Amino acid sequence: MTELELRDLRKTFRSRGRPPVDAVRGIDLALRSGELLGLLGPSGCGKSTTLRMIAGLESVSGGDILVGGTSVIDRPAQARNIGVAFENYALYPPLTVAENLAFGLKARRGNARGDVQRKVAEIADRVDLTGILDARPAGLSSGQKQRVSLARALVREPDVLLLDEPLSHLDAAQRDTTRRELKRIQRDLGHTTILVTHDQEEALSLADRIAVMKDGVIQQIGTPYEIYDSPANLFVADFVGEPAINLLPGTVTDDGRARLSDSVHLALPVPVTQGREVVVGVRPEDLSLTGEDGLPARVVAHEPLLEAGVATLALDGVERPLVVLTGPEVRLAHDEQVRVAADTRLTHVFDAETGELLR
Ligand code: ATP
Repeated sequence: MTELELRDLRKTFRSRGRPPVDAVRGIDLALRSGELLGLLGPSGCGKSTTLRMIAGLESVSGGDILVGGTSVIDRPAQARNIGVAFENYALYPPLTVAENLAFGLKARRGNARGDVQRKVAEIADRVDLTGILDARPAGLSSGQKQRVSLARALVREPDVLLLDEPLSHLDAAQRDTTRRELKRIQRDLGHTTILVTHDQEEALSLADRIAVMKDGVIQQIGTPYEIYDSPANLFVADFVGEPAINLLPGTVTDDGRARLSDSVHLALPVPVTQGREVVVGVRPEDLSLTGEDGLPARVVAHEPLLEAGVATLALDGVERPLVVLTGPEVRLAHDEQVRVAADTRLTHVFDAETGELLR
């Protein structure tokens, strides 16, 4: 069942004396009940504006928002039953954690005191806040504040949960633990959720599906595997993946390969018309150093890491360096000559002008 649907949703900010800003340019999305969708994109692409419109904190310039099949755009935020946990916590400093959680519930009519206390205790237990219910926000760690913020969104038993950069203020270790907890809580409680993030790792590890956004437009929607393995365009290919995908411009030859330089020609995964300007995309882990076959290359640098190494190679006459993931046991010397091969089935070819994947 579709729980949340956005239809051609738009937002233009207009302020006097300034050109209008098209922050969101027609978004279509449908979330199944219980699904966690990651909204991923660089700063300024319109993620927060989208979330704020769904929550009712920002007016819409066009399109519709449906929750459980019913349009909610004419309803004020309090009447939408959407739980929101923001990046900046937005907790009330004079209130204790328990009071912060109860606040949203008490504001609603028909909640008896006992019910409020029971719900607060239940959520506090789920989100691991039981020991700090009497503390005030100022005395909490960043991780605790983010959990309180999440609990406050959950306690109202919302139809839809919106999380804006929920892990952004945590250090690397806390982020790992909290990420796992968040996934467990979301699964257990089964909320239909949109998680906004600019952190690809967060999106890849938490989301059932990811929508990649740029300049107010969704570039691609798919499972984490689909987004990673079959990027729809150059932007998605480049934005998702660490170290980033190698993107090599070339011209298609009469035998259907991409000519990157006089001596470097790469086979393509699909037939492409001769003379077309393309960009070949190949991920660092889909390249291997080989004994004999493969393209000759010179080692520019090699960073040995714990689980893998990252080699930077120069291909003859090719301007862009080629980044290759190596095994942890590989030793490479500066200026050493090696051979490198790409698995053609795992390369992607994009139109250089439009950036779209050629299939
Ligand atoms: P970030 O991750 O940095 O928060 P974002 O992807 O969430 O970025 P938004 O905050 O939604 O992006 O902003 C989208 C665009 O709309 C940006 O160009 C921003 O400057 C603009 N914008 C956002 N709010 C307003 C506003 N109240 N008035 C005018 N322009 C705005």
